[in-house]
Amino acid sequence: MVHPHGGQPRAGGGEAAIGGSSAVKVVVRVRPLNQNELARGEQNSVEVTEDQRALRVHYPDSNGHFQMREFAFNACLATDATQADVMTKCGVPRLLDSALKGYSSTIFAYGQTGSGKTFSMSGREEVISEREYRGASPDTDGIISRSLAHIYQTINRIPGVTHVVKCDYLEIYNEQIYDLLAGNDVQLHERWEPQRGFHVPGLQTIECERLDDAREIIRQGMLNRAVGSHELNKDSSRSHSIFTVHIESIAEVGGQELVKHGKIAFVDLAGSERLKDSKSEGGMVKETANINRSLFMLGKVIATLAEGKAGTTHVPYRDSKLTKLLMDSLGGSSLALMVACCSPSPLHVEETMSTLHYATRARNIINRPTVAQDPQQQLISRLKDECETLRKEN
Ligand code: ADP
Ligand code: MG
Repeated sequence: MVHPHGGQPRAGGGEAAIGGSSAVKVVVRVRPLNQNELARGEQNSVEVTEDQRALRVHYPDSNGHFQMREFAFNACLATDATQADVMTKCGVPRLLDSALKGYSSTIFAYGQTGSGKTFSMSGREEVISEREYRGASPDTDGIISRSLAHIYQTINRIPGVTHVVKCDYLEIYNEQIYDLLAGNDVQLHERWEPQRGFHVPGLQTIECERLDDAREIIRQGMLNRAVGSHELNKDSSRSHSIFTVHIESIAEVGGQELVKHGKIAFVDLAGSERLKDSKSEGGMVKETANINRSLFMLGKVIATLAEGKAGTTHVPYRDSKLTKLLMDSLGGSSLALMVACCSPSPLHVEETMSTLHYATRARNIINRPTVAQDPQQQLISRLKDECETLRKEN
């Protein structure tokens, strides 16, 4: 089913409709007030409605009078939502199961610095970087660690199907791509191929037989990201990181090996306040422009797709590294979830409103998820289907 362009398409019940077209699902999470904010006596300026489908932002107008604005999303998570709640309310297990069936999924964390993107995606950075960390923090582990646990639990239970899981972890900083698993500062370059779309040759993709192997990759990647930001004066709030789990499923169908290539990418975006940060000087100008570039182009791509003009208007995917690498995730053949993170502090209310407007646009995007198979196998499947149809007709 194709939604009419220009309307307000909503996939039924906010669920992604696999096999047909589906809206990008958007969930908003509001972090609790932190110690400093509490000490200042701040009140929460964002309130989640009882049905958890909308939130209300209280903000002062130019006369200092308080106004209220309501925004609706697929789900809204209040400050008391646990990391486990995030999984269920965001429908993450469903995205993972699709990846296991050969679909491609992407989960983005969007929001200003300090709004809880890394906490939601990964958990507490300081915990994960510990040497003995083995996903041993069930309360604070984020979406990535929980997803890996789900994947490894599931792949050992599907009879007749063998799975191979591989992971890679990259960072985009200053419009340059770095391999977070290489532990050096070698720059990589994306390449376009008609069969694969944009990919990054030379990026280490490591086979992970066990859950612990995959968790070690996250730990290494996060450690390298932190070291890089320290030694090279990079600021992780200015970089985008993409952790991808590739799942190859191999099944025997009628004496033929059928291979599907599913994947799920976890994207921790640069702080959204960077979009407006253009006052830097000297050498910083290029950096800021480039950071703005990826985030800015992501916003442009989202806005173009949300207007429903993708068929008639140029979508500027190729104008930044981030949008090139995520080309398939927005308006393409992937399933996508955006976790928009907000601060409850009245001091951040303007940034919160901007995040919610951005997230509202993302909700209007339609993707058409498809299973990734080898082209030859696709042909064989299609011919088999045709044979079967002819046989029935006979
Ligand atoms: P970001 O990645 O968006 O810059 P972080 O995820 O690093 O933000 O969060 C900033 C701080 O707030 C961290 O100390 C983090 O542990 C804490 N925090 C964020 N979200 C929550 C939450 N839902 N519950 C408890 N602490 C949180
Ligand atoms: Mg972060």
